[in-house]
Amino acid sequence: MITLESVTFRYGTGTPIFDHFSWTAARGEVWAVLGPSGCGKSTLLHLLAGLLQPTGGRVIIDGQPLTRPRPYTGLIIQDYGLLPWATVRENAALGLRIRNFYGPDGTHAPRDYRPTLEVTPWLERLGLLEVADHFPGQISGGQRQRTAIARTLALHPDVLLMDEPFSSLDAPTRESLQGLVLDLWREQALTLVMVTHAIEEAAFVGQKILLLGQPPNREAVVLDNPGAGSPSYRESEPYQGMCRELRARLGGR
Ligand code: ADP
Repeated sequence: MITLESVTFRYGTGTPIFDHFSWTAARGEVWAVLGPSGCGKSTLLHLLAGLLQPTGGRVIIDGQPLTRPRPYTGLIIQDYGLLPWATVRENAALGLRIRNFYGPDGTHAPRDYRPTLEVTPWLERLGLLEVADHFPGQISGGQRQRTAIARTLALHPDVLLMDEPFSSLDAPTRESLQGLVLDLWREQALTLVMVTHAIEEAAFVGQKILLLGQPPNREAVVLDNPGAGSPSYRESEPYQGMCRELRARLGGR
């Protein structure tokens, strides 16, 4: 479903971040992209979102070469991107409001899109109904993150890209949101790509883990982690083993 075909990307005339880099994610897979700061994780996500264009090679999603953002891809950025002057409900409806403005033009909204501003079921699913009329400054970090998730899922994406979504949250909130995102991944049949610099997060969430290193990244280093995502996985030996392996590989780079 997602293919990077010999992608080269550099900012300006700098060292390439990706150099003839190829990688494939099948429909419905859940990927963690792990690597040290500065290795190109956010760059990869922006290439997948169609917000950056490769210098060479192609990004292909669902058979279509990506030349600009596609309406079926959801992107959740690091600081959530909420409007501080809008309530939780208004923030959650923001993507729909923009879609309604353009209508089902196939560029900003899918051609089969039926205009709606109905976000109550999403607020309910994400436990936000009681804070629906609050502003982002009045709610917790976890609630802000859930608002960003509601806003994105209200658009019914088939690909969900998340950039270090839980890095600023405390450990219990982070773990509960990791579980929630995996529930939503199953319910909504998403292809999920989550960027993280946290070894434990990659090992718990990613059934497949893409390891990036210091640029230029030339080859996709992929680890299979088939047990990931089940609630008891964190207590298991394969999880501990995966954390050890990731730590050794990152340390060794
Ligand atoms: P990560 O998300 O893994 O921390 P990034 O993808 O943000 O890494 O950045 C990869 C490299 O590209 C870093 O060295 C960073 O400084 C550089 N970089 C990121 N964005 C830009 C930009 N807009 N212009 C120039 N260099 C950039």
